[in-house]
Amino acid sequence: MTVKTRFAPSPTGFLHVGGARTALFSWLYARHCNGQFVLRIEDTDRERSTQEAIDAIIDSMKWIDLKWDEGPYYQTKRFDRYTEVINKLLAEGKAYKCYCSKERLEKMRDEQMKAGLKPRYDGHCREDHTAHSPDEPYVIRFRNPDDGVVAFDDMVKGHIEFKNSELDDFIIQRSDGTPTYNFCVVVDDWDMGITHVIRGDDHVNNTPRQINLYKALGAPVPVFCHLAMILGDDGAKLSKRHGAVSVMQYREDGYLPEALVNYLVRLGWSHGDQEIFTRDEMIKLFTLDAITKSASGFNTKKLDWLNAHYMKTLPASEVAKELEWHLNKIGITDLSKGPKAEDVVRNYCERTHTLKEMAQKAACYYQNITEYDQAGVKKWIKEGSVEILQASLEALKALSSWDAKSIDEALENVAKAKEVGMGKVGQPLRIAITGSAMSPGIGDTMMLVGQQRTFDRIQKAIEHFSSK
Ligand code: GLU
Repeated sequence: MTVKTRFAPSPTGFLHVGGARTALFSWLYARHCNGQFVLRIEDTDRERSTQEAIDAIIDSMKWIDLKWDEGPYYQTKRFDRYTEVINKLLAEGKAYKCYCSKERLEKMRDEQMKAGLKPRYDGHCREDHTAHSPDEPYVIRFRNPDDGVVAFDDMVKGHIEFKNSELDDFIIQRSDGTPTYNFCVVVDDWDMGITHVIRGDDHVNNTPRQINLYKALGAPVPVFCHLAMILGDDGAKLSKRHGAVSVMQYREDGYLPEALVNYLVRLGWSHGDQEIFTRDEMIKLFTLDAITKSASGFNTKKLDWLNAHYMKTLPASEVAKELEWHLNKIGITDLSKGPKAEDVVRNYCERTHTLKEMAQKAACYYQNITEYDQAGVKKWIKEGSVEILQASLEALKALSSWDAKSIDEALENVAKAKEVGMGKVGQPLRIAITGSAMSPGIGDTMMLVGQQRTFDRIQKAIEHFSSK
């Protein structure tokens, strides 16, 4: 049997980390088993589904590099199929039209609540009581079995049983003719040959209804694997108020996709106490039985730590792709006038915590400096600084080779000649060529700025600070 998993988001908002973890686990399990992974957009709720959310889900999946083998399927494009299955169920007496008015349902509900019962539909329309005119609105309900139990062995939660007497005849088609989630999901998973349903445990209560439907359709019941929820740093269910929860927000905040994925894989899955996994390792080691039962807590510090790790250890060329995205975001689209993004990464991967910060620090290599950092100026531009800048410019212009080592040596000689420490040479130069007193080694910084631009900027700073 080929394992086939799916990720089936409802496009009612951005892809959040909980959804991304579900997608990741489904993808990993398919890859681990040499199986197939399907992306399905569950957009039957037309009022709440948006194209923007669909785009965000797809962009997020691409960013974290979870490639699907089939899809994206859209439920809204499968209405003919749903109608076909509903008609079959109606013809077989496994579903029926329910004409109960809102008032009747509300009254029934109130009475059940008053009697201390769990509200559930009473099956009134199972028998067709009266004649109905063609324009009378109705919903279609699935006829749930009355007796017995629905049981399944969840891969995470173990054996779960529900009494049929506790389930009711749930709606499979609304009065506007649209099919409902609990119905579509079964038809889809059946048609798409899904063998393992991996999803959040907020769906556990839907599972017995769905299993009854599979059985009524004569469809094989997949294996279920319900993932415990993700909690915020404070133990409450992870939500927007915990900061970034959407995958793309993590991108905007400057995290690498490798860091986020490595972080997510450990949210509810473990392999000994290993923390860092390459993609290949994850695929090789990922099994459903190592998924934890208890909820996992989100820990931003650990994500930061992983991000720092990947910024330093991934090939600079890969990190550079992400840096370019961030540079673009702050309006730097033409990199031809500055250093290679890879060189920025090499020089800044230990000095910055995120790619957003790296892009901000690197802006001075691609754009003109519009101002000098005031605190840096106050601290480092003193009497004599202009002379040092002047002497440095001359020494740099006299260099026969433009490389970091030669630059550093030349500037050390300037410091010696002026009988000052290197700080008094390097810091004014940093301010002159980057606008701020913080940058990599001065030779490396000048390499990033470029030879002619270094000369021009020092010259400009000399003029600027002489006139003060
Ligand atoms: N569309 C459902 C959701 O986004 C998921 C359904 C499922 O995985 O069965 O919660």
